[in-house]
Amino acid sequence: MERLGTETAFAVSAEAAGIAAQGRRVYPFHLGDMNLATPSTVRKAALEALEAGKTGYCPAAGIPQLGQALADDVGRARGLDYGIDNVSIQPGGKPVIGKFILSQMNPSDAVIYPNPGYPIYESMIEFHGGVGCPYGYIDTPEGLRLDFEAIEAGLARGAKLLIYNNYHNPTSACSPPEEMQRLAALAVKHDLLVLSDEAYFDVRYEGAAASIASLPEMFHRTVILYTFSKKFAMTGWRLGAAIGPEAIIADINRLNVNDESCSNHFVQYGALGGLQGSQDEMQQILAVLVERRDAAVAGLRAIQGVEVHSPPATFYLFPKVTGLMARTGFDDVEEFRKAVLHETGVSFCGRHHFGRPLPGETDRYIRLAYSGIDVPDIEEALQVFAKWADER
Ligand code: PMP
Repeated sequence: MERLGTETAFAVSAEAAGIAAQGRRVYPFHLGDMNLATPSTVRKAALEALEAGKTGYCPAAGIPQLGQALADDVGRARGLDYGIDNVSIQPGGKPVIGKFILSQMNPSDAVIYPNPGYPIYESMIEFHGGVGCPYGYIDTPEGLRLDFEAIEAGLARGAKLLIYNNYHNPTSACSPPEEMQRLAALAVKHDLLVLSDEAYFDVRYEGAAASIASLPEMFHRTVILYTFSKKFAMTGWRLGAAIGPEAIIADINRLNVNDESCSNHFVQYGALGGLQGSQDEMQQILAVLVERRDAAVAGLRAIQGVEVHSPPATFYLFPKVTGLMARTGFDDVEEFRKAVLHETGVSFCGRHHFGRPLPGETDRYIRLAYSGIDVPDIEEALQVFAKWADER
């Protein structure tokens, strides 16, 4: 158990909830949860299934109708030909991480993974006895870019597994085509198996979304982490999928049998309704999110000492606050985060909530999620934050 990590962003939620319980105002930017309604297409289909008695066990791989619909939908969006045997329905996207590691990694194997990154990668690699080889991101005027030097260092350690999260939590980095091609070329050259975490594939505001699975020779070496959580605002429903080569999906299905027997039966009908029904409400969710992004970027850029990109995907911002921390007299991001939370109610995470900071990191970053806070509150929060900084 000493090797098992956690998602410390949930601890920030608890801290923020404690402040709110004292009757104080909290502006929630800490968790990638959503305050938007799940589309009616999903809700209606789930309720109908519940009334129709879809309440018993169902196949471990998921109900066939959903497996087929997802194979079609995910395949169409990526120009790939998936069938039902390429899909394993999961109770969320998150379980794909542990099941991929457990089924494809041997103890002491090296695994290349992003850090900063979703903390469950590091946790699962280490818990199952692997050796994590982290890679970071380089801040450029165009956005954050993969640190290929660190990826090469992982390859030099003999890594055969690579985790790639495009579009990226927490940095909101989005690979341009050349970057994705360069990574795919390395994967082919070194015969890597890739977990492509595409939790935010459909949370894209500008330009077409792209998957590394679509690049030459990648289909057979890529497992996609898919989730209904974000696109369909279904975080608490718990539904996602692993999509990839049949042999790996068969392994993962066997883990399903051992872990949870099957994913929630009637929820799968809800998801099917979401995939097959009108896409209007999903478009509205994106329209709301992009307005929030613009409000948050504008509010942050108005604070002296903050630098932030305006990313075309995800619902996160990863501002560089090196200047702001120096200006307000902080050296440690956690102390800075706590001071802002307790003195203003503005609640966000720090870089350290997304993996252990790497040697040589000198700039300071925080992460703001705008999926759970409305535009007027975003504007007010960032004015309060700016005033706090000016008065310190
Ligand atoms: N991957 C990434 C990068 C995420 O940010 C998240 C959720 N925040 C997940 C996977 C898992 O999401 P879920 O289990 O809700 O599908």
